Amino acid sequence: MSKISQILSVRSDKSIKLHKLLACDGGTLEEEKIHVISHAHLDHFDPNKVLNTYKKEGVVIMSDLTRKLLSYQNITLDPNFGCLKILNMNEKYHFEDLTLRLLDNNHILGSCQVEVYSDNGISTGYSGDFNSEIIEFIDVDYLVIDSTYSGRVSNNREWNYEEAYDKLINLVIEKLNQGPVNLVADSGLLQEIISKAKISEKEEYIIGKKEMSHFSKIYDEMGFEQPEVVDKLSYEGQELLRNDSYLWIGNHLSDWPMSEPRGTTIIVKNFSPRNLDSIHTLKENRYRVSLTSHAIEGEIFRYIENVDPKIVITDSSRNNKGAIDLSKNIRSKLKIESYPSDAI
Ligand SMILES: [Zn+2]
Repeated sequence: MSKISQILSVRSDKSIKLHKLLACDGGTLEEEKIHVISHAHLDHFDPNKVLNTYKKEGVVIMSDLTRKLLSYQNITLDPNFGCLKILNMNEKYHFEDLTLRLLDNNHILGSCQVEVYSDNGISTGYSGDFNSEIIEFIDVDYLVIDSTYSGRVSNNREWNYEEAYDKLINLVIEKLNQGPVNLVADSGLLQEIISKAKISEKEEYIIGKKEMSHFSKIYDEMGFEQPEVVDKLSYEGQELLRNDSYLWIGNHLSDWPMSEPRGTTIIVKNFSPRNLDSIHTLKENRYRVSLTSHAIEGEIFRYIENVDPKIVITDSSRNNKGAIDLSKNIRSKLKIESYPSDAI
């Protein structure tokens, strides 16, 4: 199996190596000159690692929307900076013997799949964090796939994505009429929910951290209408807290300084067991709603069928158990050779 690891690998620092000169996300080794950032979530972007690529005069490549979403970070992301290359979706980039393309993957604004062709005929790719409803797929023999979800298919799910979304929007609006609401989800999905719930028609300000505020600004510019996101310590934030009527957004429950946030807390995250309803009541005024910006269940296999690779490597660096389960499922369901990345 050592041959596969010479072609591609996933390192423990969450780097996805697709070519001797190119790695995605985590960081680059000395000889790797191209550093691709698949999207703006912080488990895929480390500013210090990007700085290292700059320092050795490598090239950091990302979509313009990813650059915009990351521009709150304390690092040069000026599109005119010589070490940064903004690549449009589907545009080809040539470097020595490799040709690179980024293709949209529907996860958040600017997120992409990564496709690398080498002059020796080897083609490698990375799904990135991907969602369903992808229009164009990379075309590679060796695929590294995100394993946030294992491809486990639940048989008792009696609702679909649209129904879950509608119920979530109704829950947010209903609870916001009664008092404070704390909404927990990944950045990007949060902004989509706020836009669909038309929060900006009711609220001028909502509360959230710096990343939230920046994401909301960019999503608003792209047509997903958002209220202004203010810090809890700002004048507007303090007013909202005093009035006991506000929407507070964050990525994790730990974003709340009090162990028990006031009002209603809604956690948005996919779940599999006990699937008869898309909303579980965890305890009084705390709900978990099954929704995600990742592909789940059969959508994962449909993605692989569309890419049609010879070998699939599942990403162990972000989800070790998920990677083991997903590669087993790929072998049994699709009859495609597959290994978790830490086993190659
Ligand atoms: Zn992500």
